[in-house]
Amino acid sequence: MKIDIQLTAAPIPENLAPLSPPGAHGALLEFRGVIRAEEGGQPVPALEYEAYSEMASLEIRRLLESLAARHPCLSARVVHRVGVVPAGEPAVYVGVTSRHRAEAFALLDAFMNRVKQDVPIWKRRVLSPAASAPVNNVPPAPGPRAALFSLDEAMAEIRSRCQPLPAVRAPLAGAFGRVLRETVCALEDAPPFDRSARDGYAVLADDPSAAFQVVDTLHAADWKPRALQSGQAVRVATGTALPCGGLRVVMQEHVERHGDHIRLLKHDRATHIRLRGEDAKAGQPLEQAGVRLNAGTLALLAGVGCVQPLVSPRPSVAHFTTGGEIVPPHQTPGPGQIRDSNSTLIRGLLQNVPCDLEQNHLSEDFEKAWRQLDPGHLAQVDLILVSGGASVGDQDFTRPLLERLGFEIIFAQVNVRPGKPLLFGADGPRIAFGLPGNPLSHFVCFHFAVALALARLAGGETPPFSRAPLAGKLDGQSCPRETLWPSRLEWNDGAPRLRPLAWASSGDLTCLPAANALVRVPPNQALLPAGAEVDFLPAAAMICP
Ligand code: AMP
Ligand code: MG
Repeated sequence: MKIDIQLTAAPIPENLAPLSPPGAHGALLEFRGVIRAEEGGQPVPALEYEAYSEMASLEIRRLLESLAARHPCLSARVVHRVGVVPAGEPAVYVGVTSRHRAEAFALLDAFMNRVKQDVPIWKRRVLSPAASAPVNNVPPAPGPRAALFSLDEAMAEIRSRCQPLPAVRAPLAGAFGRVLRETVCALEDAPPFDRSARDGYAVLADDPSAAFQVVDTLHAADWKPRALQSGQAVRVATGTALPCGGLRVVMQEHVERHGDHIRLLKHDRATHIRLRGEDAKAGQPLEQAGVRLNAGTLALLAGVGCVQPLVSPRPSVAHFTTGGEIVPPHQTPGPGQIRDSNSTLIRGLLQNVPCDLEQNHLSEDFEKAWRQLDPGHLAQVDLILVSGGASVGDQDFTRPLLERLGFEIIFAQVNVRPGKPLLFGADGPRIAFGLPGNPLSHFVCFHFAVALALARLAGGETPPFSRAPLAGKLDGQSCPRETLWPSRLEWNDGAPRLRPLAWASSGDLTCLPAANALVRVPPNQALLPAGAEVDFLPAAAMICP
């Protein structure tokens, strides 16, 4: 399929010629996505689109190519605006040609469904079409004050707003836990030559002799091509490059040696040779883009000489605690005070995610807290987390703080227990969460929201909800919200089982040590019997696959 992709700051032309020549196509389908002047009761004077053009073009191309395999079309032209686009103007144009109309309709529909999710182009509302650059400290028009999202809606919104950060090359020593952003192929055969798999003697493979003369000795690093004749043997070590083809290696343990002569004690049919390319052939794909680099993958990359793989960057994360009642854990709390456990929880949870974390406590006074911040520095931070103050109390200022930092608040509440007052903000590629202060809410929101955002920024995904039976009954109070119930995922004769943990309030800490999964309890469901199949979110692995 012929493809043309443009990301442009200029208006999209009225007439765009089809890419396939006249007469080739029987269907020409054109779509223009136009900015509406109003969204959810709020005026939208303009939208601003921001993109990493190279990456966005690459993703659009990849998407079109994968869709063309299912819906064979002749050509596709995509023009996407970047910068400020006033209401009434098209922001995106897609022109598709095909022999018959069905393929063009199917491809265009599938493309438009996937483009927002898969392609790193961000949009945000701007107050005036003239304001072209993002301006720090100028809060955008307030979004819906307390939009209540379902869990699925919240996760979908996070998934679509958090697009992969630009990839970087990193040395293997610093790549653990990052997401591979390129497919790695073997640069050479592995092993690169036929090698002995044993300490022993190389002889001709079909030599029927029972006794041999040792004509040479080769150590592991020796490279000495030579021919062998019947009755001759070469002393080799494990890993030695064999001197010629058509050999087998007799194990040292199977011979008796006297001076330069050996006699076979035992016949063994194995050749004891690791053949060139038997593990991997040059050019063979070894790892696909999207995998999380573990020790095994890194060893594989080291073995094939891929020493600077293209990987996700280490995102910078700034975490702030709030609340006048919070004191550091080493301090004895005075009356009305409690120790800060969230900083330790967040630091611990982020051990699983390569990132650069800074942590600070903010004053309970909004203006003082604002003066503690360095907006210039925070403009460079990929992810901002604020603990506490996300709700509606007199001193809950997380929302105005994030708005003053330039974030658009996408949602302010999620219909889930614990963790309802969760704020999610975006400013182009910058992401922010206001997490409800209670430790259990923190734990839950971290796993369904923050971990997902970090995984998406890295170019990966978190594990999806899985299904498993309950190991014991889940006996809670009926709640009109969905519940993410802290649970213990156990293995019983190879089968997963979920043990619901006891908790009384979202302020509880004692169930955290055992919690490694969150069971999804439907709304208004007080009791689930042992053995009931439930959906759960694993809470240990951070980024998959
Ligand atoms: P908030 O979200 O600010 O309304 O806080 C909800 C509850 O979480 C309050 O009881 C706070 O005292 C508590 N809390 C807030 N921050 C922390 C923290 N860093 N460590 C432990 N508890 C906290
Ligand atoms: Mg508070």
